[in-house]
Amino acid sequence: MPPSPTDASAVAVGPLSIATLLEALTRQLRQAGIQSPAADARHLVGAALSLDRAGLLAERDRPPTAAELAAIDPLVRRRLKREPVSRILGRREFWSLDLHIDASVLDPRPDTETVVQAVLGHVVDRHARYTVLDLGTGSGCLLLALLSELPAAIGIGVDIRHDAAACARDNARRLGLADRALFVVGDWGKAVLGENVHIMVTNPPYVAGSEIDTLMPEVARFDPHVALDGGEDGLDAYRALAPQVAHLLRPGGIAAVEVGQGQASSVAELLSRHTLAIAEVKADLAGVDRCVVAQNRVGMRSETG
Ligand code: GLN
Repeated sequence: MPPSPTDASAVAVGPLSIATLLEALTRQLRQAGIQSPAADARHLVGAALSLDRAGLLAERDRPPTAAELAAIDPLVRRRLKREPVSRILGRREFWSLDLHIDASVLDPRPDTETVVQAVLGHVVDRHARYTVLDLGTGSGCLLLALLSELPAAIGIGVDIRHDAAACARDNARRLGLADRALFVVGDWGKAVLGENVHIMVTNPPYVAGSEIDTLMPEVARFDPHVALDGGEDGLDAYRALAPQVAHLLRPGGIAAVEVGQGQASSVAELLSRHTLAIAEVKADLAGVDRCVVAQNRVGMRSETG
């Protein structure tokens, strides 16, 4: 039977070196409509062979062994079904931290680093003993990035899913941050005592429910829908969060809230209905307004400086 175009083992025929294998896989991924086929092929082959980029280059002229081909094949098949490389490998770099991810958590995006930048831009003293709260923590990416930058801070990450809280806890342990991070299961901030938080962050679900199926298959099929679905207009989570933000922050405390494209003014308006003043709307690297920073009533400097 002739090999089908999606049969990764088809590349095992012909004059084969690691370099030609990478080229063949790149072509195959490109034909399947995958956006970064060369990098993806390199990551998958590198993971199967335990070689980094330099290692792949150094060994490019030798043929892969049968065992190596057998290890590569299932990874490529998963990618052809549009599973993201990060999920296939179970890890994602965020804010230079190596995070483990699993099916229970949103795959952290580079856009979300805007939230970390926004917070750090408002922090007066990086060595102060801040309390940080991350609502809907998922992999723990936001909280752990902040704890890595604020060495005296402690933090709580809340997630509605037990398995997500466990994933975040595991990341904290691996990154050496477990003694400053607590992960609990809860419905947004309901389980957290009020008026104690210096810095609140959240990347809530904000995609309009009816739009989820129009997102890239990597997102629509593989990110947990509870982390994407923001209800009919995408703003349900912000409606639930806005009164809690005001209640949870100490006077002068700040909340940095990720928003979807086009949502910044609506979210700012929702937050402004409570005792919150909008301090900044920060754009991501693509120039999209990505993070709304709100401050609780009085100046941050007096409370957290
Ligand atoms: N940024 C994600 C996306 O649009 C959505 C994440 C979220 O809803 N918080 O792919």
